[in-house]
Amino acid sequence: MSNVRVRFPPSPTGYCHVGTARMAILNFLFAKKHGGSIIFRSEDTDKERSRREYEDDIVEQLKWLGLSWDEFYRTSECVESHVQAVKRLIDENKAYVSKEESKKDATVQVEVVRLRNPGKVITFTDLIRGDITFDTTELADFVVARAIDDPLYHLAVVVDDNEMSITHVIRGEDHISNTPRQILIQEALGYERPYYAHYPLHLGVDKSKLSKRTGDVAVKSYRERGFLSQALLNYIALLGWTPPSDKEILSLDEMIAEFELRDLHKSGAVFDIEKLRWFNRHYLLKEPEDSFLHTATSIMKTVFEERNTAWDEKKAHAIVPLIRERISVWEDLYTFLREGEFDYFFAAPILDTTKISGKGSDTKIAATHLERSQELLAPLSAEDFKNMEVVKNAVWDYATKEGRAAVLWPLRYSLTGRERSPDPFLVATVLGKETVLERIREACTRLKSP
Ligand code: GLU
Repeated sequence: MSNVRVRFPPSPTGYCHVGTARMAILNFLFAKKHGGSIIFRSEDTDKERSRREYEDDIVEQLKWLGLSWDEFYRTSECVESHVQAVKRLIDENKAYVSKEESKKDATVQVEVVRLRNPGKVITFTDLIRGDITFDTTELADFVVARAIDDPLYHLAVVVDDNEMSITHVIRGEDHISNTPRQILIQEALGYERPYYAHYPLHLGVDKSKLSKRTGDVAVKSYRERGFLSQALLNYIALLGWTPPSDKEILSLDEMIAEFELRDLHKSGAVFDIEKLRWFNRHYLLKEPEDSFLHTATSIMKTVFEERNTAWDEKKAHAIVPLIRERISVWEDLYTFLREGEFDYFFAAPILDTTKISGKGSDTKIAATHLERSQELLAPLSAEDFKNMEVVKNAVWDYATKEGRAAVLWPLRYSLTGRERSPDPFLVATVLGKETVLERIREACTRLKSP
């Protein structure tokens, strides 16, 4: 295909949402696949609801996702050519001025412009859905301009698509019903018809139309929650598209190489936040260590400040590998920290004596196991404590002989004071010898004098 030209035509009446991103991604993949150009057209025809702030947000988020375009226009800045088109339609008797009562105020007369609708049957070939046929009779002579110098949306889209030499209109199926109107205007103006491709909209998990409640929230808010751009891009691209390789994790270049409109699904994909988290975890695990450390540290600092906890950089850095193992999205780290999930690394936990021995275990036996663990760990040097395997080997045979749960639960609980936490050897390496022995001692004391 030569000279492919597609458009990103968002209406800047709200922040960039998942639907906007999906429209842009599909157009981007198609254009890049065919060496084509992308035209960003801010369709600011709704004067009351359009805001520059929304347009800026759409531009910013699409760039953040890794998308780009070759040309940029605003519909409002092309009004002159829309007016010329209206005049030409009237001159050629393809449209006419009609004096009517204003819809807003019946006492006021307006001069709207109506297209002379030939009322024929229109069939267009949709690259995703096949032939689509409409009888346009019922559209009657529809209005194309509120006044000669105030053309309406459909006329503007048709004129702009023509002036911008758009070859492929790739948009959501909510625009299918607009297509016959737009084709009638195109034909009246003698323009060439672009190819159309209408993809199914994505749905909420409960199969409802995507709304703020079901996940169609602003891209910005996913970004603020700490989702990575590659994860969001990858997930949104695969929402309703299965690449021929069946791969789930794809770079932008791999997506471009695999992309074909015909592989888009014919029914609506479901937006699933858990799946998005899965993608994000994948990309988070691939983050280079230093950048992961940097972000994790700055989040920890923020929450420590918020909670008035003393900052300990060394310990904070020591728990980074553990954080990496536990989180899918950066917001998880905020949640963990705010809920005190890692507090035991920084201060002695408050132990609940009834929980030290573990479910169904005897407190006396637990105390014996703790004392024995302490004896086994005591000979290790502070240096040995930095190596998880060495710490583990010190108590492993004993634990295996006596029952791992019976030995390791009390050990882990004494160190963390939490019923769920990482394994005790990992925790021990972060806490260091002195703290570990101190905490075991404290737990033993508690068990003996409850
Ligand atoms: N501006 C329209 C929208 O945001 C898109 C129109 C089109 O794709 O033709 O939904």
